Amino acid sequence: MVIVMAADATQKEIEHVVERLHELGFKTHLSTGIERTIIGAIGDEKPLRDEPLEAFPGVEKVVPIMRPFKLASRIFKEQDTIVDVNGIKIGGNRIVLMAGPCAVESYEQVMETARAVKEAGALILRGGAFKPRTSPHKFQGLGEEGLKILAQAKEETGLSIVTEVMSPQHVEMVAKYTDIFQIGTRNMQNYMLLQEVGRTDKPVLLKRGMSARVEEWILSAEYILDMGNFNVILCERGIRTFETYTRNTLDLNAIPLVKQLSHLPVIVDPSHGTGRRSLVIPMARAAIAAGADGLLVEVHPNPEKAISDGPQSLIPEEFGRLVEEVKRVAEALGRQV
Ligand code: PEP
Ligand code: MN
Repeated sequence: MVIVMAADATQKEIEHVVERLHELGFKTHLSTGIERTIIGAIGDEKPLRDEPLEAFPGVEKVVPIMRPFKLASRIFKEQDTIVDVNGIKIGGNRIVLMAGPCAVESYEQVMETARAVKEAGALILRGGAFKPRTSPHKFQGLGEEGLKILAQAKEETGLSIVTEVMSPQHVEMVAKYTDIFQIGTRNMQNYMLLQEVGRTDKPVLLKRGMSARVEEWILSAEYILDMGNFNVILCERGIRTFETYTRNTLDLNAIPLVKQLSHLPVIVDPSHGTGRRSLVIPMARAAIAAGADGLLVEVHPNPEKAISDGPQSLIPEEFGRLVEEVKRVAEALGRQV
């Protein structure tokens, strides 16, 4: 349920409503808009049958939220959420490019990629140090050593970092090195992990589960918001369908749909979304045309030698072309890259 306060409601009136909601056992979240404050109340709504909140001074109306997600909903917060990563605004007019290798393999590999993607226009460097591989026999990532390489690349290039965290026990350690926590497709419903990153105030890039419906995906974001962390970026990365020519089917519908349902920024990963290098640029263009706020792209200086995801990794030169093409689409829409 949300309580919409009148435009001229005083701070005291807002506090009074919040206090009463707490007494009735609700958890509250405030959304302070330009015009008015909205109070999101989460809890059992039964006690409110005998307590007409509309009668409280300063209350304009009480709106039940019928959707299962509340805090992530546009009804609770009408304006787009803009996630700030070291001054880089994700969810605003500017399209933010994140690029880098699937996995951190060595200092040289990361540095070569980082310099190239920065030169092309990326602001954020991606790279997995903890790799959730389908097979336990495959490379699992360099772990903390990989995080140190990313931190060095940040120091030398000024790029911000996004990297995956796989377990609640690792959140504190990964937080020391990264600017954005990435939650991978396989962990979208790892609720303990979602709650743990929700206890921090660091931005979280939440990938869509490969078999998750949009509602389940937004509910996973709700777990993070519910712990108090509203810095969530949703990332569409393709879902499983009957089609096997491509690794996944990139669900472009999800971009405008999620933006209608939620205030959170949405970015797209055309690398995992297609699994094929030749499809990455066309789908990057399509994602921006559909309203995505950014892209997460795998780039490797030598994809044939990549330890993971070589077939979908662009070489730096191709990433440069992607940026140029995406820029043209963005400009047609009145946005910048
Ligand atoms: C990745 O970004 O390298 C990755 C493992 O992605 P996903 O979780 O979408 O498979
Ligand atoms: Mn990958």
